[in-house]
Amino acid sequence: MKKLLFPIVFALTAFLFVYSCSTDEDDAPPPAAIVKKYTLAVTAGEGGSVSSSGGTYSQGTQVSITATPSSGFAFSQWSNGSTTNPITVTLNSNTNLSASFTAIINSYTLTVTAGEGGTVSTEGGTYDEGTEVTITATPAEGYEFVGWEGSDSTEALLTLNLNSNQTISAIFKSLDLPQNLLNFYNENGGRDSFNSNQILALEALILGFNKIKIGDFEEAKLMVDNVFNKIPYSESLWMDNTHGFSHCKNCSLNIGAPIAYYGLRMLDDIIFLGNPEKNGIINMTVVIAPCAVVSRPTTPNLDEEIVNLYVNPKIIENDFQLLKNSTALFRNWVKAITGGLEINLSFVQIDNCTNVNFTYDGVNVFSYPDTHNMINSVSESISEETDFWWVIAPSGVPGDGSDFDIQGDFITGGMGLYGPGLPVFISDDAWFTRKPEHMGVGDYNEIEIMAYMPQWFQHEFMHHLFRKWNEFGLEESGHQWFDRSTWPSDFIGVYESDYYAESIRKRFLNSSPSLREGLKAPEKISLESNPSIILGNYRREPVENLWHEVNITINNNGQFYWNNSAGVSWTLEIVDGLLYSGDDCPYGIQELNVISAGGVVTEIYFNNEPYTKI
Ligand SMILES: [Zn+2]
Repeated sequence: MKKLLFPIVFALTAFLFVYSCSTDEDDAPPPAAIVKKYTLAVTAGEGGSVSSSGGTYSQGTQVSITATPSSGFAFSQWSNGSTTNPITVTLNSNTNLSASFTAIINSYTLTVTAGEGGTVSTEGGTYDEGTEVTITATPAEGYEFVGWEGSDSTEALLTLNLNSNQTISAIFKSLDLPQNLLNFYNENGGRDSFNSNQILALEALILGFNKIKIGDFEEAKLMVDNVFNKIPYSESLWMDNTHGFSHCKNCSLNIGAPIAYYGLRMLDDIIFLGNPEKNGIINMTVVIAPCAVVSRPTTPNLDEEIVNLYVNPKIIENDFQLLKNSTALFRNWVKAITGGLEINLSFVQIDNCTNVNFTYDGVNVFSYPDTHNMINSVSESISEETDFWWVIAPSGVPGDGSDFDIQGDFITGGMGLYGPGLPVFISDDAWFTRKPEHMGVGDYNEIEIMAYMPQWFQHEFMHHLFRKWNEFGLEESGHQWFDRSTWPSDFIGVYESDYYAESIRKRFLNSSPSLREGLKAPEKISLESNPSIILGNYRREPVENLWHEVNITINNNGQFYWNNSAGVSWTLEIVDGLLYSGDDCPYGIQELNVISAGGVVTEIYFNNEPYTKI
């Protein structure tokens, strides 16, 4: 107060003095006291604001300023080094003041889990805000990754930017793959080692057929239709997916060529035909030789060696399961194309060993068992009932055949004939246990059997159909379908199994006799009571030489004769109602099967060939 009083008193004194001596100009008053002004400039750095930008203040004025951080920032300090906030500044000079702020680094928790059927690459943890975290979801075999709970992404590789606590879970779905397919994938590098089209085809075949087996026709149809919608019949993609992968030298797998294609087309036929119910049977008798005296080639000169071999126990074990699996789809397909004839498999292990012999034509080695002898060892009661034969003997191929430097392959099977034109599948035991060298490497897996064997059985079976219904001219020269230019003009497609599907749908479903009639063994007739019914003219179609035109006659002594147009004759004998050639026949003594319909002879089989009565 003392300080303030002085200027006022002084001012009053001056006023009075000025008032009384106003004319005295020389008497100037003393200068007023000078009040200094200072400028304050306040700024805010990035991440916040200040309560005042400053101004001009009298010396000594105290100004209070507050620094306010933006969201995500914290006040750090003033440019004068103070960390007080709000700060009070006393103006004694021009002052610049700046508030600085620093970004707040939050840390967040990420929790990552995997649902059933897979794993994730991280369980998560605590991360600074803004950290990028990459997570990979990996399905277990038999599952597929579907998406994330906690993210909209459907990619198995997910990158997250952490800005909050997050919980995320990988979702997997079971593919409902059967155990044998899971085992197959596990043994072959996992499902991911196959491309998507290979997986599509193989799984549609295995799962589709499983659906047919449990009667789920609709689901099977969806699966098969899906495959052929994505990869239509005959597309080159079918083969592109196969090259170097399946059914080749050095291929580790044989799941058919094109992969699963034969089986899928057969499944497609089954679905097309409505998978008819059983309404009859075809008796297929499997004749298994327990052992064989095997003549087989040796390296390097294909010199013969003779070994005694037993049939592979895998053929017989578990109630012939391997043979049942190998034919499962084929049998179902035959049932479909015959309108319901079920193949009744019965297994006969004959008592005696067979012989296996080989020939070499300069390209291929052919190795076959003594098929007729094997079938002749089967009891008469079974033989009479059999419509279709299948013989299996120890293999005449050493190993898988890969040690042999031959131009071609070991041929160990095919389609034969027995008796009255009955078809015979001929095979060696190794055919069902390991890949032959031209089809891959190593033992077969159950899935390979299911994927490849329909191809083999269908191929051999079609030889029989083309031979028996030769009026269709579908195999005028062997395997003619491998030359596309030989295909009938109404056949579409490119692959062998396209040819088969076309043959079935465009020819055999309307054939006469029907497949249903023609696949049953013809009715043999006994000549015991009336042998003269065999008299008359016969012809083997097509007639290729004069031996194919025959007249059966009888002389005054009751002796029957087989006379051909080439002028060659031999005797015929009847024993217990059965017809045999005599010992003067150039082909030796053999049974001639006499086939009848309604008590009238229609055909006589000689040398496995039908001679039709005219
Ligand atoms: Zn063939």
